[in-house]
Amino acid sequence: MRRSDSRSKSKFIFVTGGVVSSLGKGIASATIGCLLESHGLRVANQKFDPYINVDPGTMSPFQHGEVYVTDDGAETDLDLGHYERFTGATLSRLNNVTTGQIYYEVIQKERRGEYLGKTVQVVPHITDEIKGRVYKLAAQGYDVVITEIGGTVGDIEGLPFLEAIRQVPYDVGRENVLYIHLTLVPFIRAAAELKTKPTQHSVMHLREIGIQPDVLLCRTEQRFSDEIAAKIAMFCNVDSDCVFQAWDVDEIYRIPLVYHEQGLDRVLLRLLKLESPAGQADLSGWRRFSEQLDSREDTVHIGFVGKYVDLQDAYKSVYEALRHAGVANGVNVRIHRIEAEDVDAESLDEQLDHMDGVLVPGGFGSRGIEGKIAAAGHARRAKIPYFGICLGLQIAVIEFSRNVCGLTGANSTEFDQQSPHPVIDLMAEQKSIQAMGGTMRLGAYDCVVREGTRAAEAYGRPVIRERHRHRYEVNNKYLHQLAEHGLVISGVNEQTNLVEMIELRDHPWFVGCQFHPEFKSKPLAPHPLFVKFIAAAKARHLSHRRSREFHSERS
Ligand code: GLN
Repeated sequence: MRRSDSRSKSKFIFVTGGVVSSLGKGIASATIGCLLESHGLRVANQKFDPYINVDPGTMSPFQHGEVYVTDDGAETDLDLGHYERFTGATLSRLNNVTTGQIYYEVIQKERRGEYLGKTVQVVPHITDEIKGRVYKLAAQGYDVVITEIGGTVGDIEGLPFLEAIRQVPYDVGRENVLYIHLTLVPFIRAAAELKTKPTQHSVMHLREIGIQPDVLLCRTEQRFSDEIAAKIAMFCNVDSDCVFQAWDVDEIYRIPLVYHEQGLDRVLLRLLKLESPAGQADLSGWRRFSEQLDSREDTVHIGFVGKYVDLQDAYKSVYEALRHAGVANGVNVRIHRIEAEDVDAESLDEQLDHMDGVLVPGGFGSRGIEGKIAAAGHARRAKIPYFGICLGLQIAVIEFSRNVCGLTGANSTEFDQQSPHPVIDLMAEQKSIQAMGGTMRLGAYDCVVREGTRAAEAYGRPVIRERHRHRYEVNNKYLHQLAEHGLVISGVNEQTNLVEMIELRDHPWFVGCQFHPEFKSKPLAPHPLFVKFIAAAKARHLSHRRSREFHSERS
C-alpha cells in the first residue's frame, strides 16, 4: 500500500508504551505535539485503542474514565483531551481509532464484495485498514502525525496495531517515521537503585515484533545520571542523546518544559530531517503558565458533587478546567469530591457551607440524583456560587421547579417517567431511538447568549459554540413558569429552540449549561465560564476571610 505523493509530505511519529500502564503516554504524546507545534509545525495527535468497542461512549466510567467529545460529535478516549489541551489542534473522529471500528469497516467491505474473493485476514486487511487511518489523517495537511498506541507492548489486542506501524516505513520511507517508546525506570527502595532491566526487556519485546525504537522516554521518580542514560542507550540500541527522562513533576503542564530543556524537540527535528519553520521553539506561553502556577496564593474550595468521585479519570476535563481557571485567578483550586449519594438534607450545612463554590457535573442514571438536587438547592439559598454542567443544569431546573415554582414532584423523565411535571424531557427525535452507541445529541452546536446576563459577561460575545453529550432537554412547556419565578434563560439554540444556559439573578453566581464547556478549556486559554465561576468562589473566599479577620480583631 504505497502512499501517493500528497501524503508523503507528512512525517509520522508512533508512541508505544512498555513495562506498565499509567505512565502518562497520553501526556507524553501530547507534549511531543506541543513541542513540534512550538516550532511552527502543523501537528495532529491520534490515538489507537485496541478494545473492541466502537467507541468509549457505551462504556461505564468505572471501565474507561471520561468520554471526551470532539466538535464533530465523536465520543473518544480521554487522551484526546490531553492532545487538545497541549496543542492548538481541533480534533475529530479521525483522531481516535479502535479495534471495533477497524473490524466493523473491514467486515462491511467484505460484505460489499470489495475484497474480490480473497480470504480476508488480519495481515494485510486489518493492518491496511489501520494504516489507512493514519494516512487519512495525514492527508488533512499535517506536517507531523503523532499516533499513540494504547496499552503496553505485549498486549495481545495491540499486536495488529504494532504490525501495522511496523509496516509504515515501507509505505512512506524510513526517514519519515519515528518510533518513540515510553518506559519505566523504577527505583527499588530496598536496593536503593534505579533499575534499567524492565526497559531493556520492553525494547527487546518491541524488537521481536520488528520495531526498533529511535527515542526512549523514561519515566522515573528521580533524575538519573548520564551513566545510566548511556547504559540504557547502549543496551536498547538507541543513540546516546535519544534517552530522555520524565521525572515526576507536581504539575503536568510543566512537562513540555522538562522535555524541551533536555533537547527533545531538537532531536525529533533532526531525526525526522525537519527544519524548524520558526527557527526555534516558542514556549513563552508555557513558561508564563509555569510561573503563574508558582505565584498562586489563596486556595478556594470547590464542593464537587458527583457519582464517580472516587475515580481519578471520570471527570478529567472538568478537573483540568477548574485548575486552568484557578491559575487564571491566581488561586489554587482544592476539589472536595462529594459522593452524591452521601448528601442529605441534614448533612448539607456541614458538607457545603465551608465551600466557596459547588459544582454538579454531567451524569447519567438515577443514583445520587436527590443528593445533587439538595446540593443545588442549598447553593441557591445559601448564595454559594454554583456551576451546573449538563446534568448539573437539569438538576438546578428540577430543584427550582420544585422549591421555587411549587411544582411538586417535578423531575426529569430520565429518573421518573411518571413525574407530574416533567421539566426535563426527551427531545421528540430521541423518543424513537433504541440503539445506545453514538445516538445522543453530540458535538458542537451554536448558542445565542442573552445580553445583560452572567453568560454574556463571561463570553463577551453574542454567539458561542460548545460541545454536547446528552439526550434530555429542558421542557419548553415549563419555560413560562420558570421565567415567571425568576429563572433566567441566558442561552438558547435558535435552530432547535432548546435551552442551552440558565442562571439566577440576586445570586453571586448561579449558572447552568446544557453543554460541556470543560472540553474546550486549555491551560493557555482557560474557559470563560470556569474562570468566572472560580472568580466568584474566590470573592466568597476573600469576603469570608475578611469577616473572620474582622471578628478575631474585635474579640
Ligand atoms: N443524563 C442527562 C441527559 O442525557 C445528562 C447527560 C450529561 O450530563 N452528559 O440528558
